[in-house]
Amino acid sequence: MPIRWRLTIWSSLILCAVLVLSSVIIYVILQRYLGDEVDNNLRVNSARVHGTLNPQEIPEPLDYSVIHSKLPPINEFASPGIYIQLIDKDGNVVVKSDNLGSQELPVDPLLIERGFAGNVNIATVAAGNNTSVRIMVSPLYMSNQTLLLEVAQSLKYVDATMGRVRWALLASTLVALLLTGILGVVLVRRALSPVKRITQTAQSIEASSSLSRRVDYRGPMDEIGQLAATFDHMIEHLDKVFQSQKHFIGNASHELRGPLTIIRGNLDLLDRNLSKQERLDSLREVKGETVRMAKIVSDLLLLAQIESGQLDQQEAVPLREILLEESVRARKLAPNHQIIVGRQEDLSVSGSPHRIRQLLTNLVENAIRYTPEGGTITLSLSREGDWARLEVSDTGIGIAPGHLPHIFDRLYTVDKARSRASGGSGLGLAIVKGIAEEHGGKVTVISEPGKGSTFTVWLKL
Ligand code: ADP
Repeated sequence: MPIRWRLTIWSSLILCAVLVLSSVIIYVILQRYLGDEVDNNLRVNSARVHGTLNPQEIPEPLDYSVIHSKLPPINEFASPGIYIQLIDKDGNVVVKSDNLGSQELPVDPLLIERGFAGNVNIATVAAGNNTSVRIMVSPLYMSNQTLLLEVAQSLKYVDATMGRVRWALLASTLVALLLTGILGVVLVRRALSPVKRITQTAQSIEASSSLSRRVDYRGPMDEIGQLAATFDHMIEHLDKVFQSQKHFIGNASHELRGPLTIIRGNLDLLDRNLSKQERLDSLREVKGETVRMAKIVSDLLLLAQIESGQLDQQEAVPLREILLEESVRARKLAPNHQIIVGRQEDLSVSGSPHRIRQLLTNLVENAIRYTPEGGTITLSLSREGDWARLEVSDTGIGIAPGHLPHIFDRLYTVDKARSRASGGSGLGLAIVKGIAEEHGGKVTVISEPGKGSTFTVWLKL
């Protein structure tokens, strides 16, 4: 069953329960109130009769006309439908108020019996024609005998009022339920319409395999609005990831196709009659390209591992030791560069020593690669707050501001020919960034063309 129906049915059921409960409470309270009003009326009038009928003033044997004349007048405005009747021990009506006319109050033997037994009692007695009267009985002691005073009020108006209230409550409950049902469906449908759009967008993305579709929700930013916006952000992010993945695969194939073409060309050449020197040159080129391919493939593998979040080790990494080792290696690698070690604080972070070494190697190799002979490369390690600051700066060619935002992208090179000639493939800095991030850190760069670059790796201590 669709959620909008379920929500509507549930809200209607809850409203129905609340309305029924409140109607019952209103009905019972009103009935009690009106009942109490009638009973109070009966008590007041009964007391008035007792007050006016003083046994000493009634002559014996009883003169019922005197009693009748002493009955208090019934004010039809103050107490409508109040009837007074006196009966003797035999059940004969001896006195009654004029408004009863030829009628008598209905008889309830049990009530009469209780009254003569000396009890004051109030009860509802059926009076035929679907009407009832509320009767209060009390004994009236004369000198020689006891009469029973019955003061009664018709419940016709109370019953009629309660009947109308019943209908009013029932009708208002039904109308409220109907309106809630209709409005509920409309409102729930409107509130859930973005969810429907999200589903439709997701379905069309699935059907067309195109991540260009969006929900494009323009309503208020409530929970559902946030869901729609998050969905769009997610699709946008996935779209970017897929695009860059596609781009990357294209670039990677291109990078591998270059060496493969050269190797194949050389192998074709080797089939021919070449001089010994030409043969050696060809073989050298094949070897060089094979090494380059192997480096690209191993860098790609390393990147894939880093991006899949598989950190091979988690141990204390002695940064200073690695920095010093790297400076020794750099001096061997670039004897014509000046390799300086600046600050070298004894710091260590938790992670993979192998990866951190790789990170530093990439930065140092880049510094050597892009710094002309005679230039200076400075390595330093210092603490800044909770961070270890690993810095490789050079006095090399620098990077133009336009390239700076892209140099950490995979397979991005500023000058392809230059990178290629020096053994670079555009993966070095992407690996540096990946390793820094998998250690909870980051890498920043400051560079000025012609003056040099400084790469800083921040690792959480
Ligand atoms: P590459 O294999 O081309 O060196 P990297 O990812 O290591 O790839 O670097 C990307 C680009 O950033 C390089 O092509 C180069 O132009 C630039 N770059 C990196 N390090 C330096 C540096 N120390 N000085 C100048 N340019 C640099």
